[in-house]
This record gives sequence, C-alpha cells and structure tokens, in this order.
Amino acid sequence: MSHNRQIKKSLFLSLAVIFLFVSSVATGKTLIYHGNVDSHIFHKPSCRYYNCKKCTKKFTSREDAIEAGYRPCKVCKP
Ligand SMILES: [Zn+2]
Repeated sequence: MSHNRQIKKSLFLSLAVIFLFVSSVATGKTLIYHGNVDSHIFHKPSCRYYNCKKCTKKFTSREDAIEAGYRPCKVCKP
C-alpha cells in the first residue's frame, strides 16, 4: 500500500512541476533580460550578445531595464 502511495505522491509532484513550468512560460515571467554594465544596453535571451562578459545585470522586464537607464539593443530589439 505504501508503495502505491509513493507513486501517487511523485506523480502529483511531477504534474505540479509541469504545471508551474507551463504557466510561467505562458505568462512570460521567465524572460530575463541581460544588461551590459559597460555600455548600458540590454538584451533578450535570443540575442547573440545575451551572455557577453559584461552582460551581468539582470532585469525581469524591459521597463525595469529602461528605468535603470539601460537602452534596448539594436540587434535583438527587446
Ligand atoms: Zn541584443
């Protein structure tokens, strides 16, 4: 009996993880912009400059980045 219970528990947990993942992707909350601390330009994850050495500042929205004095990259246009 306890074995069956364990399976149910892990099944529930994996469903919960999937649900959280899907809902966060759907709302776009996982999108994190990277700001270049040197040039004050920020990039979206698909940009080739996203993981550059100086792109260490993280923003959860483009509004945050603009408020912090950063401007959108001309390549990825975040
Ligand atoms: Zn970019």
